[in-house]
Amino acid sequence: MVSDKKEPFVIRSRLFTPLDGGGSDEYLYYDDGFLVVGDGGRILFVGSELPEEYAHYRVHRTQHLIFPGFVDAHVHYPQVPVVASYGTSLLEWLDKYTFPEEIKYGDSSYAGRRAAQFLTLILARGVTSAAVFSTIHQVAFEALQASNRDLGLNLVSGVTGMDRGAPDALSVDIDVFKDINEKAIETSRGLERFGYAITPRFAISCSDQMLDYCGQLLESDQSLLMQTHINETEDEILATSELFPNAADYLEVYDSFGLLGDRSLFAHGIHNTATEYERWALSGASVVHCPTSNTFLGSGLFDADGYVSRGINVGLGSDVGGGFSLNPFVTMAEAYKVAKLRGQVLDPLLLVYWHTLGGAKAIHQDDSIGSLESGKYADFCLIDITSDEVGFEMWERAGTVHEKLFSLMFLMPDSKNRVVATFTAGVLRWQDETEPGF
Ligand SMILES: [Zn+2]
Repeated sequence: MVSDKKEPFVIRSRLFTPLDGGGSDEYLYYDDGFLVVGDGGRILFVGSELPEEYAHYRVHRTQHLIFPGFVDAHVHYPQVPVVASYGTSLLEWLDKYTFPEEIKYGDSSYAGRRAAQFLTLILARGVTSAAVFSTIHQVAFEALQASNRDLGLNLVSGVTGMDRGAPDALSVDIDVFKDINEKAIETSRGLERFGYAITPRFAISCSDQMLDYCGQLLESDQSLLMQTHINETEDEILATSELFPNAADYLEVYDSFGLLGDRSLFAHGIHNTATEYERWALSGASVVHCPTSNTFLGSGLFDADGYVSRGINVGLGSDVGGGFSLNPFVTMAEAYKVAKLRGQVLDPLLLVYWHTLGGAKAIHQDDSIGSLESGKYADFCLIDITSDEVGFEMWERAGTVHEKLFSLMFLMPDSKNRVVATFTAGVLRWQDETEPGF
């Protein structure tokens, strides 16, 4: 088993990685490739012939596919227990299922248990980086930080801001919010691979005062990101326009408080107006497409071409618990289906790009994660593609790498093929218990 953090090693097997740009030829694939990991947890080499200088390293040979770790660019860790809650749309779903669950995260031991469970679940699905929503509670945020000290993912998170439109137990006074935020930013600075994102939940749960504070904070510290929701459902848009009558549209609400810029991540963005698309493109902000959430809650169909044609960066998110799966392959397959319902066809390589490099760009870390390239962190997973007879047959039969990826997306979640091990910074963080080791 590869578990020694300090010792460099080589993994030899099939290897795939997208490369920057997202074009249809921008990837590497080897039937027999080498991934060399240095003692600092960074990638030293990727290729089909092992350079002499690494020949003395331990080589682990496997049949599994070496794949870059996924970036879940929008997910709520406290919502794992409400996944697959029946029969509502967004605003009712929040009131009926989500808010009652989030109230429990004021208890640090409950939050700690759930944070560790969440991080283990995503590791087991090949996710190595995530932009995570917490709750309004300081202890819930600290629980995520504490759990990640042991589990070692690359995270971005923030204390969720809400001071209206929520139960009293989930509404925080602005002065308390400021205090919690500032403490949370300070503690995050001391952690490895843990970035801070200012996190106003969405416009209707935040007063002008709270959004104004968030905007000033974002402006004052260039190391911070901002994550929130936008244009998810028609009801939400209507409620937003009633609360902010002076704003021409939803994006202008955020823009007017200084929250629209290249360090902003907006989840959903389904029902944009043409003006919103244009302003969005100029801002450099990223959209996080959350297809399983959008179909599950019936929120609407994301217009992939609307973003791609304007050069807006796209990441993919599970949005659990609005989304029903933490599995990146399910998310990518659902994104493909949503596009088809709009008459659009998405290249499977683009879907993989969105779920790796697109997410990495959204959190401003594409220079260090998102693909398997020299100098980046060795964040990767091993995927068993041979255990399932039909799945492997489709993999072998596929004439192009695009077709191989496509068959993985649709066949893997319902087959014996699966992620069997996940590494971050070259350290084995999770392994399927049936795996003998490698
Ligand atoms: Zn969400």
